[in-house]
Amino acid sequence: MSLTPAQIKYRGRIYKQAAVRISKLRVDDSHRAGGAEQTSRLFVWIDNEKVLDNLHDRYKRPWQLWKAEVLPQVFKRLKLPRDTLTKWSQTAGCSCGCSPGFIVYDGKNQDYHVFVS
Ligand SMILES: [Zn+2]
Repeated sequence: MSLTPAQIKYRGRIYKQAAVRISKLRVDDSHRAGGAEQTSRLFVWIDNEKVLDNLHDRYKRPWQLWKAEVLPQVFKRLKLPRDTLTKWSQTAGCSCGCSPGFIVYDGKNQDYHVFVS
């Protein structure tokens, strides 16, 4: 079965547009040293994901799906411009690669924790 651009296969399931829902959004002040360019970090957590699945999938998070489905919803809630620049980074949260996430070029210095189902 081939996927349309609006579909992404992840863990044997095919997700389609508007399939990802935000269950919780938490905003924390970051304690990263602020440079000239202030950026935030956005971490996505999958509700009910088992710790072992998270460990196993740490290097293959479905970030394209999240970029298409989650970020627009988050930007709307945070009242950020919908064209806010983001970049997926395996080392967004830690230099060892254990905490991948989006770098958000929003001129702030915050951590966004998005819980999705
Ligand atoms: Zn780490």
